[in-house]
Amino acid sequence: LTRFAIAIGSNLGDRVGHLRHAVEEIGRLGDRRGVSGLYETAPVGGPAQGPYLNAVVLLDSDRPPEDLLRQLQEIEARHGRQRSMRWGPRTLDLDIVSMAPGAIDSDRLVVPHPRSAERRFVLRPLCDVWPEAPVVGGIAAEALVSVTDQKVDLLARSWLNQERDPGRYWIGAQFALLFLIGLSILGFGSLPTTWAWWRVLGGVLLFAGAIGASTAAHALGTALTVMPEPVPGSELVETGPYGLVRHPIYGSLSLAAIGASLLFADRAGVALGVLLLGFFWAKSGYEERRLRMVHAGYMGYRDRVRWRLLPFLL
Ligand code: ATP
Ligand code: CA
Ligand code: CA
Repeated sequence: LTRFAIAIGSNLGDRVGHLRHAVEEIGRLGDRRGVSGLYETAPVGGPAQGPYLNAVVLLDSDRPPEDLLRQLQEIEARHGRQRSMRWGPRTLDLDIVSMAPGAIDSDRLVVPHPRSAERRFVLRPLCDVWPEAPVVGGIAAEALVSVTDQKVDLLARSWLNQERDPGRYWIGAQFALLFLIGLSILGFGSLPTTWAWWRVLGGVLLFAGAIGASTAAHALGTALTVMPEPVPGSELVETGPYGLVRHPIYGSLSLAAIGASLLFADRAGVALGVLLLGFFWAKSGYEERRLRMVHAGYMGYRDRVRWRLLPFLL
């Protein structure tokens, strides 16, 4: 029995769909012993092209390596893989990057894969499942620390099952916080009888937040959801308020909560409003990793629109 590490990558079409399906098909070629996290990588070499999703699958199999390669190439072909230019964009790329025991060097197949020891997008997922994997010049874990010039971001540790959804916990926490802020203002706050400057500021923030949230909700249209998961099939909205900040509704709601608490002179409410802002910071981080799984354009959007919650601030 031989252990194989198979690097899988996609940067065309339904990238995560191609990878999920490939993992399933690879599993039929032997015993699947592990699947790495899902990573997003800017393309290295080749023509200008969109970002890749990458992962590594461990497979124990008694197939001869050349036979395994042929099976993998059939899977690639079934996913519409075209070989038009070297290192060009592809729906699915399956490489045997490492094996043990043994090695192979033939016309059609070289393992350990000759270029993998310099590729962070191979080494990082490989280390998730097999840090001692033999690579050119040593083992994966050692090679990884010497390749630092490439950006490879973890999007999800567990990504095979589409249905597993931690989203509802975020929603639960969000509504609990909003409810507490409402209670706090009703309980401790009072309508202004005297006009302090910070009450005026509160009124302005509340107004700005309300306008911001409704404009952004309108711009999002059918892509609007309280869930952190993107609406399936929805386009990425990059215009209007979304050209200024990436999560304008969250920023606006936080402003409105802080504004209302100031206006009604409720200190606890102000503190909760700041907490809400921190909460939205965390929730938007999770949400962006999910968006990057679905929208290849998200990386570029994030580079263009650098503010996450509040323009020129956060
Ligand atoms: P790279 O090998 O640099 O990642 P690539 O994956 O884009 O480039 P392909 O066009 O997919 O290259 O493959 C070219 C050939 O590489 C294949 O036809 C295959 O015979 C050969 N090859 C050699 N070693 C391996 C390996 N370890 N895994 C997969 N293919 C290999
Ligand atoms: Ca490759
Ligand atoms: Ca290949």
